[in-house]
Amino acid sequence: MPDVSPTAALAPYAAHDDESRGRRYPEPPPQLRSEFQRDRDRIIHSNAFRRLVYKTQVFVNHEGDLYRTRITHSIEVAQIARSVALALRLNEALSEAICLAHDLGHTPFGHAGQDALNECMREYGGFEHNLQSLRVVDELEERYAEFPGLNLTFECREGILKHCSVRHARELGELGERFLKRQQPGLEAQIANLADEIAYNNHDVDDGLRAQLLSVEALRATRIFRRQHDAVMARYPDLSERRLVHEIVRRMINHIVLDLIHTTSSQLEQARPASIDEVRAHARPLAALSNECREEHLELKEFLREHVYRHYKVLRMTTKARRVVQELFEAFFKDVTLMPGEYRDQALKSEGANPGVGRARTVADYIAGMTDRYAILEHQRLFDPAERT
Ligand code: MG
Repeated sequence: MPDVSPTAALAPYAAHDDESRGRRYPEPPPQLRSEFQRDRDRIIHSNAFRRLVYKTQVFVNHEGDLYRTRITHSIEVAQIARSVALALRLNEALSEAICLAHDLGHTPFGHAGQDALNECMREYGGFEHNLQSLRVVDELEERYAEFPGLNLTFECREGILKHCSVRHARELGELGERFLKRQQPGLEAQIANLADEIAYNNHDVDDGLRAQLLSVEALRATRIFRRQHDAVMARYPDLSERRLVHEIVRRMINHIVLDLIHTTSSQLEQARPASIDEVRAHARPLAALSNECREEHLELKEFLREHVYRHYKVLRMTTKARRVVQELFEAFFKDVTLMPGEYRDQALKSEGANPGVGRARTVADYIAGMTDRYAILEHQRLFDPAERT
Protein backbone atom coordinates (compact mmCIF):
# COMPACT_ATOMS: atom_id res chain seq x y z
CA MET A 1 0.00 0.00 0.00
CA PRO A 2 1.45 3.41 -0.89
CA ASP A 3 2.29 5.72 1.98
CA VAL A 4 -0.19 8.55 1.49
CA SER A 5 0.35 10.12 4.88
CA PRO A 6 2.12 13.44 4.57
CA THR A 7 3.65 12.86 8.02
CA ALA A 8 7.22 12.51 6.75
CA ALA A 9 7.30 16.11 5.60
CA LEU A 10 5.77 17.55 8.76
CA ALA A 11 7.67 19.66 11.27
CA PRO A 12 8.10 18.13 14.75
CA TYR A 13 5.70 20.72 16.22
CA ALA A 14 2.91 19.83 13.75
CA ALA A 15 0.02 17.47 14.54
CA HIS A 16 1.14 13.94 13.65
CA ASP A 17 -1.28 11.08 13.11
CA ASP A 18 0.62 8.75 15.41
CA GLU A 19 0.67 11.29 18.27
CA SER A 20 -3.05 12.11 18.10
CA ARG A 21 -4.95 11.99 21.37
CA GLY A 22 -7.48 9.98 19.43
CA ARG A 23 -11.22 9.84 19.04
CA ARG A 24 -13.90 9.60 21.73
CA TYR A 25 -14.98 6.22 20.35
CA PRO A 26 -11.96 4.17 19.23
CA GLU A 27 -11.96 3.18 15.56
CA PRO A 28 -9.60 1.22 13.32
CA PRO A 29 -7.11 3.51 11.53
CA PRO A 30 -8.25 4.85 8.15
CA GLN A 31 -6.97 3.31 4.93
CA LEU A 32 -5.30 5.37 2.20
CA ARG A 33 -5.80 8.64 4.06
CA SER A 34 -4.61 10.17 7.29
CA GLU A 35 -6.66 10.54 10.48
CA PHE A 36 -7.06 14.26 9.84
CA GLN A 37 -8.03 13.76 6.20
CA ARG A 38 -10.76 11.47 7.50
CA ASP A 39 -11.93 14.26 9.84
CA ARG A 40 -12.09 16.69 6.92
CA ASP A 41 -14.02 14.21 4.76
CA ARG A 42 -16.56 13.57 7.52
CA ILE A 43 -17.14 17.30 7.93
CA ILE A 44 -17.71 17.82 4.21
CA HIS A 45 -20.25 14.98 4.12
CA SER A 46 -22.21 16.28 7.13
CA ASN A 47 -25.69 17.84 6.97
CA ALA A 48 -24.52 20.82 9.01
CA PHE A 49 -21.89 21.62 6.36
CA ARG A 50 -24.42 21.69 3.54
CA ARG A 51 -26.68 23.98 5.56
CA LEU A 52 -23.91 26.60 5.57
CA VAL A 53 -24.80 27.30 1.93
CA TYR A 54 -27.91 29.10 3.08
CA LYS A 55 -26.62 30.77 6.22
CA THR A 56 -25.70 34.43 6.41
CA GLN A 57 -22.19 35.69 6.83
CA VAL A 58 -23.05 39.43 6.88
CA PHE A 59 -25.59 39.82 4.09
CA VAL A 60 -28.73 37.72 4.38
CA ASN A 61 -28.87 35.02 1.77
CA HIS A 62 -31.61 36.51 -0.40
CA GLU A 63 -29.89 39.91 -0.73
CA GLY A 64 -27.72 38.80 -3.63
CA ASP A 65 -26.08 35.72 -5.14
CA LEU A 66 -22.53 37.04 -5.09
CA TYR A 67 -22.20 37.77 -1.38
CA ARG A 68 -20.32 35.43 0.89
CA THR A 69 -22.34 32.85 2.75
CA ARG A 70 -21.06 30.75 5.64
CA ILE A 71 -19.96 28.05 3.23
CA THR A 72 -17.93 30.26 0.89
CA HIS A 73 -16.52 32.01 3.95
CA SER A 74 -15.48 28.64 5.43
CA ILE A 75 -13.84 27.62 2.15
CA GLU A 76 -11.92 30.90 1.93
CA VAL A 77 -10.77 30.48 5.54
CA ALA A 78 -9.63 26.93 4.76
CA GLN A 79 -7.76 28.07 1.66
CA ILE A 80 -5.79 30.68 3.62
CA ALA A 81 -5.04 28.25 6.45
CA ARG A 82 -3.86 25.55 4.03
CA SER A 83 -1.36 27.91 2.41
CA VAL A 84 0.03 28.91 5.78
CA ALA A 85 0.07 25.33 7.09
CA LEU A 86 2.00 24.10 4.06
CA ALA A 87 4.55 26.90 4.28
CA LEU A 88 5.15 26.14 7.97
CA ARG A 89 5.18 22.35 7.46
CA LEU A 90 2.07 21.96 9.60
CA ASN A 91 -0.68 19.42 9.05
CA GLU A 92 -2.61 20.88 6.12
CA ALA A 93 -5.52 18.45 6.34
CA LEU A 94 -6.08 19.18 10.04
CA SER A 95 -6.02 22.93 9.47
CA GLU A 96 -8.46 22.53 6.60
CA ALA A 97 -10.78 20.34 8.69
CA ILE A 98 -10.87 22.86 11.55
CA CYS A 99 -11.64 25.72 9.16
CA LEU A 100 -14.42 23.87 7.37
CA ALA A 101 -16.01 22.99 10.73
CA HIS A 102 -15.45 26.25 12.59
CA ASP A 103 -18.88 27.73 11.81
CA LEU A 104 -21.00 24.55 11.76
CA GLY A 105 -22.81 25.68 14.91
CA HIS A 106 -23.70 29.09 13.60
CA THR A 107 -27.34 30.14 13.78
CA PRO A 108 -29.22 31.58 10.81
CA PHE A 109 -28.68 35.33 10.25
CA GLY A 110 -25.06 35.53 11.39
CA HIS A 111 -24.16 37.27 14.63
CA ALA A 112 -27.61 38.80 15.04
CA GLY A 113 -29.08 35.29 15.19
CA GLN A 114 -26.45 34.09 17.65
CA ASP A 115 -26.97 37.10 19.95
CA ALA A 116 -30.73 36.65 19.89
CA LEU A 117 -30.51 32.94 20.67
CA ASN A 118 -28.00 33.60 23.45
CA GLU A 119 -30.40 36.11 24.96
CA CYS A 120 -33.28 33.58 24.79
CA MET A 121 -31.06 30.95 26.43
CA ARG A 122 -29.77 33.20 29.22
CA GLU A 123 -31.48 31.30 32.02
CA TYR A 124 -30.68 27.93 30.46
CA GLY A 125 -26.91 27.97 30.03
CA GLY A 126 -26.66 30.46 27.14
CA PHE A 127 -25.87 29.85 23.50
CA GLU A 128 -22.42 30.20 21.99
CA HIS A 129 -21.71 29.25 18.38
CA ASN A 130 -18.26 27.79 19.10
CA LEU A 131 -19.69 25.41 21.65
CA GLN A 132 -22.54 24.64 19.28
CA SER A 133 -20.08 23.75 16.49
CA LEU A 134 -18.55 21.23 18.88
CA ARG A 135 -22.02 19.96 19.82
CA VAL A 136 -22.80 19.45 16.13
CA VAL A 137 -19.73 17.30 15.51
CA ASP A 138 -19.92 15.50 18.88
CA GLU A 139 -23.66 14.90 19.27
CA LEU A 140 -26.07 16.27 16.71
CA GLU A 141 -24.93 14.75 13.41
CA GLU A 142 -26.51 11.33 12.98
CA ARG A 143 -24.54 9.42 10.37
CA TYR A 144 -22.84 6.44 11.96
CA ALA A 145 -24.17 3.21 13.40
CA GLU A 146 -21.53 2.99 16.10
CA PHE A 147 -21.42 6.48 17.61
CA PRO A 148 -23.22 9.83 17.79
CA GLY A 149 -21.76 12.79 15.90
CA LEU A 150 -18.74 12.55 13.61
CA ASN A 151 -16.29 11.16 16.19
CA LEU A 152 -13.50 13.55 15.15
CA THR A 153 -9.97 13.52 16.54
CA PHE A 154 -9.13 15.42 19.72
CA GLU A 155 -6.95 17.80 17.70
CA CYS A 156 -9.78 18.76 15.38
CA ARG A 157 -12.26 19.21 18.26
CA GLU A 158 -9.66 21.27 20.13
CA GLY A 159 -9.43 23.57 17.11
CA ILE A 160 -13.20 23.90 16.70
CA LEU A 161 -13.58 25.03 20.31
CA LYS A 162 -11.92 28.41 19.88
CA HIS A 163 -13.26 30.06 23.01
CA CYS A 164 -14.98 28.72 26.06
CA SER A 165 -16.10 30.10 29.42
CA VAL A 166 -14.55 28.61 32.57
CA ARG A 167 -17.95 27.21 33.56
CA HIS A 168 -18.31 25.31 30.29
CA ALA A 169 -14.64 24.32 30.27
CA ARG A 170 -15.16 22.43 33.56
CA GLU A 171 -17.90 20.36 31.95
CA LEU A 172 -15.82 19.46 28.89
CA GLY A 173 -13.16 17.28 30.54
CA GLU A 174 -9.90 16.93 28.63
CA LEU A 175 -11.03 19.32 25.90
CA GLY A 176 -11.81 22.08 28.39
CA GLU A 177 -8.52 21.76 30.27
CA ARG A 178 -6.59 24.29 28.24
CA PHE A 179 -9.03 27.07 29.14
CA LEU A 180 -8.50 26.33 32.82
CA LYS A 181 -4.71 25.98 32.52
CA ARG A 182 -4.46 28.87 30.04
CA GLN A 183 -2.72 26.69 27.47
CA GLN A 184 -2.81 26.93 23.70
CA PRO A 185 -4.28 24.65 21.05
CA GLY A 186 -2.01 23.14 18.37
CA LEU A 187 -0.58 25.37 15.65
CA GLU A 188 -3.08 24.12 13.05
CA ALA A 189 -5.88 25.50 15.25
CA GLN A 190 -4.00 28.76 15.88
CA ILE A 191 -3.57 29.21 12.13
CA ALA A 192 -7.26 28.44 11.50
CA ASN A 193 -8.25 31.10 14.01
CA LEU A 194 -6.14 33.78 12.32
CA ALA A 195 -7.20 32.65 8.84
CA ASP A 196 -10.82 33.27 9.91
CA GLU A 197 -10.05 36.91 10.74
CA ILE A 198 -7.97 37.44 7.60
CA ALA A 199 -10.70 35.97 5.41
CA TYR A 200 -13.63 37.96 6.79
CA ASN A 201 -11.81 41.28 7.03
CA ASN A 202 -10.89 41.03 3.37
CA HIS A 203 -14.07 39.55 1.94
CA ASP A 204 -16.18 42.04 3.87
CA VAL A 205 -14.30 44.83 2.09
CA ASP A 206 -15.25 43.21 -1.20
CA ASP A 207 -18.88 42.53 -0.16
CA GLY A 208 -19.21 45.99 1.43
CA LEU A 209 -18.10 47.62 -1.83
CA ARG A 210 -20.45 45.41 -3.84
CA ALA A 211 -23.37 46.41 -1.59
CA GLN A 212 -22.30 50.05 -1.93
CA LEU A 213 -22.06 50.46 1.82
CA LEU A 214 -18.38 51.38 1.28
CA SER A 215 -16.46 53.36 -1.31
CA VAL A 216 -12.85 53.04 -2.42
CA GLU A 217 -12.32 56.63 -1.32
CA ALA A 218 -13.67 55.96 2.20
CA LEU A 219 -11.58 52.79 2.55
CA ARG A 220 -8.44 54.86 2.00
CA ALA A 221 -8.86 55.91 5.65
CA THR A 222 -7.29 52.55 6.54
CA ARG A 223 -3.53 52.18 6.10
CA ILE A 224 -3.65 48.62 4.82
CA PHE A 225 -6.07 49.51 2.01
CA ARG A 226 -4.45 52.85 1.17
CA ARG A 227 -1.01 51.29 0.69
CA GLN A 228 -2.26 48.70 -1.80
CA HIS A 229 -4.53 51.23 -3.52
CA ASP A 230 -1.57 53.57 -4.07
CA ALA A 231 0.58 50.71 -5.38
CA VAL A 232 -2.06 49.47 -7.82
CA MET A 233 -2.94 52.98 -9.07
CA ALA A 234 0.74 53.81 -9.63
CA ARG A 235 1.18 50.75 -11.79
CA TYR A 236 -2.25 50.53 -13.47
CA PRO A 237 -3.72 54.07 -13.52
CA ASP A 238 -6.55 53.16 -15.94
CA LEU A 239 -7.88 50.03 -14.26
CA SER A 240 -11.66 49.51 -14.10
CA GLU A 241 -13.11 49.68 -10.58
CA ARG A 242 -13.95 45.99 -10.48
CA ARG A 243 -10.41 44.93 -11.32
CA LEU A 244 -9.01 47.61 -9.04
CA VAL A 245 -10.96 46.29 -6.05
CA HIS A 246 -9.99 42.67 -6.64
CA GLU A 247 -6.36 43.59 -7.21
CA ILE A 248 -6.28 45.50 -3.90
CA VAL A 249 -8.03 42.78 -1.89
CA ARG A 250 -5.79 40.11 -3.40
CA ARG A 251 -2.70 42.11 -2.43
CA MET A 252 -4.00 42.77 1.09
CA ILE A 253 -4.55 39.05 1.69
CA ASN A 254 -1.13 38.25 0.29
CA HIS A 255 0.52 40.86 2.49
CA ILE A 256 -1.12 39.60 5.69
CA VAL A 257 -0.58 35.92 4.90
CA LEU A 258 3.12 36.48 4.21
CA ASP A 259 3.42 38.46 7.43
CA LEU A 260 1.73 35.64 9.34
CA ILE A 261 4.09 33.04 7.85
CA HIS A 262 7.23 35.11 8.54
CA THR A 263 6.25 36.19 12.05
CA THR A 264 5.19 32.68 13.08
CA SER A 265 8.26 31.17 11.52
CA SER A 266 10.59 33.44 13.49
CA GLN A 267 8.66 32.77 16.72
CA LEU A 268 9.04 29.04 16.07
CA GLU A 269 12.76 29.46 15.50
CA GLN A 270 13.11 31.13 18.88
CA ALA A 271 10.84 28.82 20.87
CA ARG A 272 11.88 25.62 19.09
CA PRO A 273 8.97 23.47 20.27
CA ALA A 274 9.81 19.79 19.85
CA SER A 275 6.21 18.60 19.74
CA ILE A 276 2.59 19.71 19.61
CA ASP A 277 2.47 19.40 23.41
CA GLU A 278 5.28 21.96 23.71
CA VAL A 279 3.25 24.25 21.43
CA ARG A 280 0.26 23.74 23.75
CA ALA A 281 2.32 24.51 26.86
CA HIS A 282 3.73 27.75 25.47
CA ALA A 283 2.57 30.86 27.37
CA ARG A 284 1.27 32.60 24.23
CA PRO A 285 0.11 31.43 20.82
CA LEU A 286 3.12 30.91 18.55
CA ALA A 287 1.15 31.76 15.42
CA ALA A 288 0.88 35.53 15.18
CA LEU A 289 1.01 38.63 13.01
CA SER A 290 3.73 41.24 13.48
CA ASN A 291 2.67 44.17 15.70
CA GLU A 292 2.47 46.52 12.75
CA CYS A 293 0.36 44.17 10.65
CA ARG A 294 -1.92 43.33 13.58
CA GLU A 295 -2.58 47.03 14.24
CA GLU A 296 -3.39 47.69 10.60
CA HIS A 297 -5.63 44.68 10.51
CA LEU A 298 -7.47 45.88 13.64
CA GLU A 299 -7.86 49.30 12.09
CA LEU A 300 -9.58 47.69 9.10
CA LYS A 301 -11.78 45.59 11.39
CA GLU A 302 -12.86 48.71 13.30
CA PHE A 303 -13.56 50.50 10.01
CA LEU A 304 -15.77 47.63 8.84
CA ARG A 305 -17.62 47.55 12.14
CA GLU A 306 -18.50 51.22 11.79
CA HIS A 307 -19.27 51.31 8.08
CA VAL A 308 -20.63 47.84 7.27
CA TYR A 309 -21.83 45.99 10.35
CA ARG A 310 -23.44 49.12 11.83
CA HIS A 311 -24.75 50.48 8.55
CA TYR A 312 -28.47 51.20 8.83
CA LYS A 313 -29.31 48.83 5.99
CA VAL A 314 -27.49 45.99 7.73
CA LEU A 315 -28.99 46.93 11.11
CA ARG A 316 -32.53 46.87 9.70
CA MET A 317 -31.94 43.35 8.47
CA THR A 318 -30.36 42.18 11.71
CA THR A 319 -33.21 43.67 13.74
CA LYS A 320 -35.71 41.68 11.71
CA ALA A 321 -33.55 38.58 12.03
CA ARG A 322 -33.34 38.96 15.79
CA ARG A 323 -37.11 39.20 16.01
CA VAL A 324 -37.56 36.04 13.93
CA VAL A 325 -35.24 34.05 16.19
CA GLN A 326 -36.81 35.40 19.40
CA GLU A 327 -40.34 34.68 18.29
CA LEU A 328 -39.48 31.19 17.07
CA PHE A 329 -37.83 30.43 20.39
CA GLU A 330 -40.74 31.71 22.46
CA ALA A 331 -43.32 29.83 20.42
CA PHE A 332 -41.45 26.49 20.49
CA PHE A 333 -40.44 26.80 24.12
CA LYS A 334 -44.01 27.49 25.19
CA ASP A 335 -45.36 24.60 23.14
CA VAL A 336 -42.87 21.96 22.00
CA THR A 337 -45.57 20.12 20.08
CA LEU A 338 -45.25 22.83 17.39
CA MET A 339 -41.81 21.43 16.48
CA PRO A 340 -41.34 18.51 14.06
CA GLY A 341 -41.68 15.08 15.70
CA GLU A 342 -38.05 14.27 16.44
CA TYR A 343 -37.43 17.62 18.17
CA ARG A 344 -40.72 17.43 20.06
CA ASP A 345 -39.83 13.94 21.30
CA GLN A 346 -36.33 15.04 22.23
CA ALA A 347 -37.69 18.07 24.11
CA LEU A 348 -40.17 15.94 26.06
CA LYS A 349 -37.52 13.30 26.80
CA SER A 350 -35.02 15.86 28.09
CA GLU A 351 -37.56 17.51 30.39
CA GLY A 352 -37.17 14.97 33.19
CA ALA A 353 -34.20 15.84 35.37
CA ASN A 354 -33.88 19.53 34.65
CA PRO A 355 -37.20 21.15 33.83
CA GLY A 356 -36.86 23.91 31.28
CA VAL A 357 -33.16 23.41 30.58
CA GLY A 358 -33.47 20.32 28.40
CA ARG A 359 -36.43 21.76 26.56
CA ALA A 360 -34.64 25.06 25.95
CA ARG A 361 -31.54 23.27 24.64
CA THR A 362 -33.60 21.21 22.21
CA VAL A 363 -35.36 24.32 20.90
CA ALA A 364 -31.95 26.04 20.55
CA ASP A 365 -30.58 23.03 18.62
CA TYR A 366 -33.57 23.15 16.28
CA ILE A 367 -33.28 26.91 15.65
CA ALA A 368 -29.48 26.90 15.36
CA GLY A 369 -29.69 24.21 12.69
CA MET A 370 -32.01 26.31 10.52
CA THR A 371 -30.88 28.07 7.37
CA ASP A 372 -31.93 31.72 6.90
CA ARG A 373 -34.75 30.87 4.56
CA TYR A 374 -35.97 27.92 6.61
CA ALA A 375 -36.16 30.17 9.69
CA ILE A 376 -38.14 32.77 7.72
CA LEU A 377 -40.44 30.06 6.39
CA GLU A 378 -41.00 28.53 9.85
CA HIS A 379 -41.77 32.00 11.16
CA GLN A 380 -44.37 32.53 8.44
CA ARG A 381 -45.90 29.13 9.07
CA LEU A 382 -46.27 29.91 12.78
CA PHE A 383 -47.38 33.52 12.64
CA ASP A 384 -48.96 34.17 9.26
CA PRO A 385 -52.52 32.77 9.22
CA ALA A 386 -52.54 32.80 5.42
CA GLU A 387 -49.43 30.60 5.22
CA ARG A 388 -49.78 26.84 4.84
CA THR A 389 -48.40 24.93 7.80
MG1 MG B 1 -15.76 32.36 10.67
